[in-house]
Amino acid sequence: MTVSTFPITIVRSSRRRTVAIHIKLNGEVTVLAPNGVREQQILDVVHQKNKWVMRHLDRINQRKGRGLLTHLIPGGWFYFRGKEITIVRGETDDGLFVTPSQFSISCQGDLVLKIREALFKEAQSIILPRVQELARQFQMVPQRTRLSTAKHAWGSCSGKGVVSIHWALVMAPPVVLDDVIIHELCHLVHPNHSDRFWNLLKGYTATEPDSKAWLKMNHHELNWAV
Ligand SMILES: [Zn+2]
Repeated sequence: MTVSTFPITIVRSSRRRTVAIHIKLNGEVTVLAPNGVREQQILDVVHQKNKWVMRHLDRINQRKGRGLLTHLIPGGWFYFRGKEITIVRGETDDGLFVTPSQFSISCQGDLVLKIREALFKEAQSIILPRVQELARQFQMVPQRTRLSTAKHAWGSCSGKGVVSIHWALVMAPPVVLDDVIIHELCHLVHPNHSDRFWNLLKGYTATEPDSKAWLKMNHHELNWAV
């Protein structure tokens, strides 16, 4: 079936409550829908999200052209706060790779490692203060907050109230970082994914599904450093 300019596959499930669009890294667009929803309703949702889907498909095509992570080289780029930072060779003789604003990375040794170190430093000064700020704003009180280096989770909230946020999220757009933090802070109130949890979360942020989708789409742009 074709809607607009891209083909979609509809997958129905009795466990789903809402219609969601997933875009795989190969550009396949799947629409997940609850059993009872009429096809026209599903197509309407896809139509509303048309721009969003197109943007992601464009990105996939660009990435195919550039190749996966072959961009971590002089002249290439990496993500910081959701923006592509260009890696350019500096004017100086000591071989610095100077990028806009705060990044100034020596090319002595492993460049990828150097970029990772620089990003980790940024993460330390950005992420934990942001967790505290949002916790204050929503009147949540974590026992402790920490930067995570976990392999398989962007965030977690322990039974003891320790909120962990992955440092590599410093590469994601600020709204994506915020949504992961808000998700984990809401677990301080509901340590599960019950309806009450999702209702609380929705009261604090409307962008969580988009943030999740961004992470799904771009995880390899962050994972190289994990
Ligand atoms: Zn959760």
